Amino acid sequence: MNNFSASKLARDDLKDMEPYVPQQYPGMIRLDANENPYDLPREVKDDINEKLYSHYFNRYPDPLANNLVKALASYTGFSEDYILAGNGSDEIILDLALTFAAGGKVIITSPTFSMYEVHSRVAGAEPVFIPRKSCFSIDIEKIKNYEQDTDTRIIFICSPNNPTANEIKHEELEQILNSVNCLVVVDEAYIEFGGKTTAVLLRKYPNMVVIRSFSKSFGLAGLRVGYLLANPEVIRQVCRVKQPFNLNTYSQLAAVTVLENLSLYQDIIENIKAEREYLLNKMKNLNIKVYPTVTNFILFEPSCDAAKVHSELLEHNILIRNVSSPVVENCLRVSVGTRDENNAFIKALVKAAG
Ligand SMILES: *Cc1c(COP(=O)(O)O)cnc(C)c1O
Repeated sequence: MNNFSASKLARDDLKDMEPYVPQQYPGMIRLDANENPYDLPREVKDDINEKLYSHYFNRYPDPLANNLVKALASYTGFSEDYILAGNGSDEIILDLALTFAAGGKVIITSPTFSMYEVHSRVAGAEPVFIPRKSCFSIDIEKIKNYEQDTDTRIIFICSPNNPTANEIKHEELEQILNSVNCLVVVDEAYIEFGGKTTAVLLRKYPNMVVIRSFSKSFGLAGLRVGYLLANPEVIRQVCRVKQPFNLNTYSQLAAVTVLENLSLYQDIIENIKAEREYLLNKMKNLNIKVYPTVTNFILFEPSCDAAKVHSELLEHNILIRNVSSPVVENCLRVSVGTRDENNAFIKALVKAAG
């Protein structure tokens, strides 16, 4: 027997990191992950399946997802050299951290999406948290000062932000872009639900990048498709660390087909926005404090203990997210579902917090 020990050999700097294991609750109404409550429309699935026959699964996928990038060029209005496709925006976050942040610091504007921290650590970068202010706006002065004094490589700004559901003003973003030398990453995973895109600033600021996802508005969470919009020089650098065949043939095909059927998605997105207003009204009538939202989820503060509301909802088969933390004390996040799911949630909420 040798003396092999996986835990001794593993990286020291990751020793206290817990593996990210998403909760699985079979049979639950899942309003916890901000997924699109509707599966792909039948005609889009048929369309994808029809096209499958002209694709080879024995060959490696197109490493640069050229057809998808072409479709994204017409969707976004950016030329193809500004676009890079990824295996979910998660992969893009990791690739950005690996390319630019290893050995340096990363600023995270908490509370926000947990993957900025996870992927920064995995890439060997040190996450530094600069909390949002009480109205959930970004603490621009603190960011500027910190960036000037340290080896900061990336600032992650989620807009609209998960879980606070608000967006950054363009003037605020420009104040940051004008005064820092690092990369500023704006995560627009929820942009189709009503936020104002910041992508117009990309042409003015070479240190800015935007990441987007097919997981929320386009309902492709199961196929893992995201993309990066950035200055071509930034993209060239990221391509040095990107897995060559990161996006599989099927997902490339499905994402292209989704973009060919945009009008169907416009209807789905309008439906989700209408359901959001429906939920907001019901919740306000229950005297629950709800925060404004330009996303497909709602941040709210029950008048009793959030952890208790969360577990009572679970007993009624409803899974939402407890996002309580210092800036969002005693707060819960619920994703907008179908009308039936939303009604089931409201009914259980009346019992748990009414
Ligand atoms: C859900 C979400 C994503 C999506 O990640 P994918 O890897 O594309 O599924 C990205 N950013 C934020 C802030 C999210 O909430």
